[in-house]
Amino acid sequence: PEVAHRIAAGEVVERPASAVKELVENSLDAGASRVEVEVSGGGTELIRVTDDGFGMARDDAERAVMQHATSKILTADDLASVRSLGFRGEALHAIGAVSTLTLTTRGAQDSVGARVVVVAGGTVEVSAANHPVGTTVEVRDLFLNLPVRRGFLGSERAEANAVAGVVQGLALGSPGVGFSLKVGGPAALSFPAARDLRERVAQVHGLPLAKSLVPVEDGAVRGLVSPVERSFPTRRYLHVSVNGRVVEADSFAPAVAKAYADLLPKGRHPAAFLALELGAGEVDVNVHPAKSAVRLRGGRTAYPLVVGAIRSALRLWKE
Ligand code: ADP
Ligand code: MG
Repeated sequence: PEVAHRIAAGEVVERPASAVKELVENSLDAGASRVEVEVSGGGTELIRVTDDGFGMARDDAERAVMQHATSKILTADDLASVRSLGFRGEALHAIGAVSTLTLTTRGAQDSVGARVVVVAGGTVEVSAANHPVGTTVEVRDLFLNLPVRRGFLGSERAEANAVAGVVQGLALGSPGVGFSLKVGGPAALSFPAARDLRERVAQVHGLPLAKSLVPVEDGAVRGLVSPVERSFPTRRYLHVSVNGRVVEADSFAPAVAKAYADLLPKGRHPAAFLALELGAGEVDVNVHPAKSAVRLRGGRTAYPLVVGAIRSALRLWKE
């Protein structure tokens, strides 16, 4: 494809971790109960995501790597109604434009699976292939035709860590789904399907932290937070999903901090793992035109909801 097209693709997929996020979200949209992720070279050599979701028929697999330009979400109203994580129909196409992408899949109704190969946005080759019901997407040589983008990437280790962060975040957002991550060698992370959020937090951050957490059960805001007796010298134990989507937790940090205002020693931070269910008017959606990324921010209503829910959880715990 021409340069502008490649650059546009590079905007959708900034680094290996963003490709992993798109691929794993596709697996979750496909109803997977297990998602396996493998990367090597920090994800620039290889990203492989395998799921046991509902897979695709041959024609659908071929269509999946084409650009559909169907934006299912344009407004906050849509965000409240569209429950699938994918909605732009461009992630696979964008990744295929800047890598060698191989998608192998089989739908439950099909006796034979299909394999679709795209090399750097060129012709799409389709053939029959064996695969259990579900899908494997292999991405090799990411950004092979975007050397400048490659130059902006961090070290192999930094990129692998970013991939691990994405997998941990998505795992916290879907406790019932089993996840594993291999980073060029033996298993780096393994999170078997968990009973609930607390068990998943234990898998991701350890049992002592998970055990100490207090339940937040406030209708729109549910999850687990640390009691005032336990705080951390870091803000890294903050995880938020909105209507099932894992979001950048930063914009919710002020609301969480406010709930603990004057309760924690200076320089100490709480842990909070929150799932918010918000109506259209309660969340700000910012659809970035170039990046096609949707950013969610706690709107005016979300802020007091979060503060109130945590405050009442902390009070209940003390009594
Ligand atoms: P989007 O997720 O925004 O629809 P993608 O480019 O990520 O766009 O995926 C295109 C389509 O390919 C999806 O809508 C889905 O129908 C199909 N697809 C992609 N990955 C998978 C998967 N792992 N399992 C089943 N279907 C998939
Ligand atoms: Mg998608």
